[in-house]
Amino acid sequence: MGTEKNRDIRLKSRPVGLPTRSDFELVETDIPSPGLGQVLVRNLFMSVDPYMRGRMMDRKSYVPPFQIGEVLQGGAVGKVVASNNGPFQVGDTVMSFSGWREWYVSDGSDMMQKVDATVAPIQSYLGALGMPGLTAYVGLTRIGELKDEERVFVSAASGAVGAIACQIAKNKGCRVVGSAGSDEKCAYLTDELHIDQAINYRTCGNLSLALSDVMQSGIDVYFDNVGGGHLTAALDNMRQFGRIVACGMIENYNATEPPKGPHNLMNIVGQSLTMRGFIVSNHYDLMERFRQDMSAWIAAGKMTWRETVYDGIEHAPDALIALFHGLNFGKMLVKLGEA
Ligand code: NDP
Repeated sequence: MGTEKNRDIRLKSRPVGLPTRSDFELVETDIPSPGLGQVLVRNLFMSVDPYMRGRMMDRKSYVPPFQIGEVLQGGAVGKVVASNNGPFQVGDTVMSFSGWREWYVSDGSDMMQKVDATVAPIQSYLGALGMPGLTAYVGLTRIGELKDEERVFVSAASGAVGAIACQIAKNKGCRVVGSAGSDEKCAYLTDELHIDQAINYRTCGNLSLALSDVMQSGIDVYFDNVGGGHLTAALDNMRQFGRIVACGMIENYNATEPPKGPHNLMNIVGQSLTMRGFIVSNHYDLMERFRQDMSAWIAAGKMTWRETVYDGIEHAPDALIALFHGLNFGKMLVKLGEA
């Protein structure tokens, strides 16, 4: 390791509205030494996820807020480079929650786990084979109780969660419509993910009317990644006994004023709808089944995904900010080192 240093990213100030680079600080420290029972890991990729924005606010939530001056946290994959911990060998690929830093030591008690680097590229464990993929799977199968051949609408459909949700629904023979923020993303949805129709929500005019044009008999399951105007438009088009899977509401993550609620919530009553939210970490019991199904879909050529990769930990804040401008095409990752 010679004179090499460890670099990490800390929260410098709590963002107001969209985060800016000045809300983050790059700090250099010594590379830690593994103590008794510990391993030293070199991170190779880290995940950047929309929910991290919520953790930057000082408020009670399902995960504790990040603290000013502390290293941020998030999913990461890396390689064990030194080990004083039997089950972990030098050269093992491990997934952890110790992102936003280049090196870390762990005794294995912090959810660090070995992953099989032969199934797919290791960064897939932060996307299709990891938390975002499981989110799509849980949301559609358990929360949305999706049945074969139903009519499904997915928002933020070209993203990490959305793209997998689209393909799971297609694999169940569903009619799938997705929305995305550019023509290029919409072309990807129809041409490469083979969904039935894609709507560019930025250029379509009235989203509710655009949806009713392409889903004339209505929506059975709406997989909501966006909230706000998308939720309102979906509510206008739900079929009787439809289900709304409340996965995320990115439209509001940087709001500085309390957002307005949908004006048409009464449709939940009239159409006998179910709307159910979920947090993926409460559904890890499905992980093994998900990995089996996902591996089979990948092997059968029924699952594909894209990644946007920023290079270097110093660009991790830019990658996070870019998510809120739709600059990612698929899973947003930061490359932290070479294997
Ligand atoms: P994505 O890869 O989809 O990236 C975010 C995308 O959201 C952007 O690329 C952009 O795509 C879209 N977007 C950003 N701002 C807006 C806006 N104002 N209106 C409409 N679309 C917008 O992220 P993920 O797949 O990681 O996450 C998707 C959603 O799932 C998020 O809401 C996230 O919080 C949620 N989530 C929930 C989990 C749970 O346990 N419930 C777990 C993981 C994720 P475009 O160019 O198409 O606008």
